[in-house]
Amino acid sequence: MTPLQHFIEAHPRLFVLTGAGCSTDSGIPDYRDRDGQWKRQPPVTYAAFMHEPATRRRYWARSMVGWRRFGNALPNATHRALATLERRGQIELLVTQNVDRLHQRAGSERVLDLHGRLDEVRCMNCAWRLGRHAFQHMLVARNPAWAQLDATDAPDGDADLDGYDFSQFHVPPCPHCGGIAKPDVVFFGEAVPRERVEAAAQAWQAADAVLVVGSSLMVYSGYRFVAAAAQAGKPVAAVTLGRTRADALLALKVDAPCHEALAFLHEPA
Ligand SMILES: [Zn+2]
Repeated sequence: MTPLQHFIEAHPRLFVLTGAGCSTDSGIPDYRDRDGQWKRQPPVTYAAFMHEPATRRRYWARSMVGWRRFGNALPNATHRALATLERRGQIELLVTQNVDRLHQRAGSERVLDLHGRLDEVRCMNCAWRLGRHAFQHMLVARNPAWAQLDATDAPDGDADLDGYDFSQFHVPPCPHCGGIAKPDVVFFGEAVPRERVEAAAQAWQAADAVLVVGSSLMVYSGYRFVAAAAQAGKPVAAVTLGRTRADALLALKVDAPCHEALAFLHEPA
């Protein structure tokens, strides 16, 4: 039995926090290297998206290209292992920093999308919402010349589309009020909605221990739950490649690919 298996057996109710490392096997790149440093240009900030039309054109042009693969990504063995853990009754709540909905597609139900979901678009001025697949049709209809472009995938459904003049890219406004259409995700520099923070805080308090999977915890929104739980005396285990911001707080650290560390939860196909 591995130390992680012991940890999970010893703590029947887990607060699970997941990050980008869960989804890399599904072909979705992550932002950070083993040292927790940016691998690439930091993502678009909330302020830039809301205040700069040029930033929105560039964002949606890249997203239109990146969505083709991101929108079709499938859950992998790590998502399935965590869904198995939930079926065993061991998950109080799974809080994910990912916006890809792959935990849900693998069968997990007790999931909180801390940073929202990329498969929905909403108006920042009224209650209009639309599925991202339908919004893709609106983007393609207005920008047919861009539809054939291809580029390397970047995190969060982005694509490395560079060297293009985005000034002619047309971003559809909200069909009801003309407002700004934004993916229903929390951008960098944007606050996580309070009810999500409260739901996560209640869940770690009800749990016996914390299990971090595939996150370096460099983003404060996730780190704060781990830090608070550790301070309250809850043991924390982390499965991730490389350094985490919470290394000093960990009862157990497993520096291995997520699917390998969780292999004992894999069910025969
Ligand atoms: Zn609107």
